[in-house]
Amino acid sequence: MTKLAIVIPCYNEAEALPITARELLGLLDGMVQEGLVTQDSYILAVNDGSRDDTWGVISSLHDQHPERFKGIDLAHNRGHQYALLAGLMTARGHCDAAISIDADLQDDINAIPRMVKEFQQGKDIVYGVRQSRATDTWFKRTTARGFYKFQRTMGVDTVYDHADYRLMSAQALDLLSEYGESNLFLRGIIPQIGLESSTVGYDRAERVAGESKYPLGKMLSFSIDGITSFSAKPMRLIFLTGLTFLILDVLAAIYVAISYYYHSLVWGWASLFLSIWFLGSLLLMGVGIVGEYVGKIYIEVKHRPRYAIRRSLL
Ligand code: UDP
Ligand code: MG
Repeated sequence: MTKLAIVIPCYNEAEALPITARELLGLLDGMVQEGLVTQDSYILAVNDGSRDDTWGVISSLHDQHPERFKGIDLAHNRGHQYALLAGLMTARGHCDAAISIDADLQDDINAIPRMVKEFQQGKDIVYGVRQSRATDTWFKRTTARGFYKFQRTMGVDTVYDHADYRLMSAQALDLLSEYGESNLFLRGIIPQIGLESSTVGYDRAERVAGESKYPLGKMLSFSIDGITSFSAKPMRLIFLTGLTFLILDVLAAIYVAISYYYHSLVWGWASLFLSIWFLGSLLLMGVGIVGEYVGKIYIEVKHRPRYAIRRSLL
């Protein structure tokens, strides 16, 4: 039997959490009765510095179910990835396996028993993979798909259509704890841990309540982080583009010299103008990308704590 911890990062989820908690508590009871998980399996909600009454909701759920429903309260809003890490690291050493799931029930909870069964068959990491995104808006679907593809081409090894809905064994959690980086992109780190893994498919539903905490801006910065914390490919691409232009430039210079010798042309301003702007923009982009990496290094060398727990109900 498996002692299971279900970790839920929550940011302003006072509306959705009661519904989610009810569903998950029901599911957990069912799994205990089936003999799939132990009696002391539990849910751990992480309050990521919410501005609404999420912590109040967590406290009252803990009062009603002191053994089943636990919570930690972060000192301030650190973002989804850090909240998740805080939860997983709190559960580490207190479970055989931990499943992370969002607070909005978009991920089908019926995949949980299937994940546990995969774990019991020896898998250390089980990825929840979305089979359909029919309920996501066209925009969300396209940007999210583009995001996975772009990351792949940029050399980040992620699991396609997998968000942070996954099971990790105690051993996988121990290995994850060895990753000390501040720039956290769990979807990229976890495939690097190795160990035996498998996937479980599910259909993505709509949010039960509240609205998305990932507006376009946050999504964009998340995807840039995902790439720059994992691969140096963008820098190499810029370098190679520069090299290509250098070669083209040499060829153009030869061409110009020959044309000048034969028919002394007057060159138009347009081509000059365009090429200056084009190269200028490449240079700026290059500097920006280098800056992005330097910024990352700056943050890493400070070794600041990645999250701070204000209080906990365990
Ligand atoms: N979340 C968090 N901190 C944040 C933003 C989001 O803990 O700063 C949590 C949020 O409560 C939810 C999960 O991360 O449980 C995923 O967020 P959301 O459902 O809003 O993202 P979407 O599904 O729209 O991509
Ligand atoms: Mg969601």
